[in-house]
Amino acid sequence: MEQKWFKDEIFHYEGLDYVEKKRRMINMQSLLLKKLSDYFLEEGFRWILPVITSKITDPLWPDPGSSIEKRIEFEIYGEKVRVTQSMIIHKIIVCSLFEQKIFTFSPNLRIERSERRNTGKHLYEFTQLDFEMRDSGSRDVMSFVERILKRLFKDLIESGIYRKEMECINEDWEIYDSNELENKFGKDWENLVSGRIDCPVWVVNIPREFYDYQDRITGRWDNYDLYLPDIGEVLSGSRREISYNRIIEKMFRDGVKTENFRILLELSREGKLKECAGAGIGIERLLAWITGEKDVSDVQIFPRIPGIVNYL
Ligand code: AMP
Ligand code: MG
Repeated sequence: MEQKWFKDEIFHYEGLDYVEKKRRMINMQSLLLKKLSDYFLEEGFRWILPVITSKITDPLWPDPGSSIEKRIEFEIYGEKVRVTQSMIIHKIIVCSLFEQKIFTFSPNLRIERSERRNTGKHLYEFTQLDFEMRDSGSRDVMSFVERILKRLFKDLIESGIYRKEMECINEDWEIYDSNELENKFGKDWENLVSGRIDCPVWVVNIPREFYDYQDRITGRWDNYDLYLPDIGEVLSGSRREISYNRIIEKMFRDGVKTENFRILLELSREGKLKECAGAGIGIERLLAWITGEKDVSDVQIFPRIPGIVNYL
């Protein structure tokens, strides 16, 4: 296996015991969270706390990348609630009604199928750095993400934390259409791309959930994912669909129950949803990429591997 660390070799784990490995990972986690939150605050974002239970959550449908075995729903105070699969709907509402730019570190519970236990990329509990920007479009979000990640890579390199792909800080990251990748690599392009790139790349125009904007005439999706070498998709986002008719049309098309999204639909019918765009970054995947870990569960203090329930 290629050794990705040099300089102080602070993350060269061989010969270290489990406690020492976890201790170093906690330090790295702490550094990453501090840097990311500093960048967002400096860029004028407001930091909000996450929600855990709600009547509304991300349907994660239809998304070709999703593979959910079970959705967690239960009753409290006589009402049915769902555990957050992502804060997408809450983000759009906060951004439309209250604040121009927001971010949160949001715990997501997604009961991924057990078959995903060996992908090294899937967890059933993970954290998204989820953010949303009002009066913004895809290009704004993409250039913002490039700016903060390049700043992160530069800061990490300066702290002696290095992998060669972090050097892609002086160029614009390439953008590929998902159709182009499907033609080149076939249906399994999502799993193949990460092995064929030396720099982060953007993938755009990906068919998925109703809240991503889709041009009515051309059918083109105004959305984007960021892929990192080795680890693959680390971020998904889009310009949002705010037109009531369009949201309803897509919900019917995709078999998504309108009654699960009542407030969002009311706000869009009243014209209260604002043009916005945003994205979510998988913290564990980013951390695994930075530290060179092969499996995302290794960056978790208490691993949440699909199909495996631990004591802690
Ligand atoms: P999504 O909007 O569903 O693509 O999720 C946003 C980001 O969260 C992804 O790009 C990944 O970095 C991360 N993510 C999604 N699902 C998982 C999972 N099961 N385990 C770990 N990270 C995930
Ligand atoms: Mg995604």
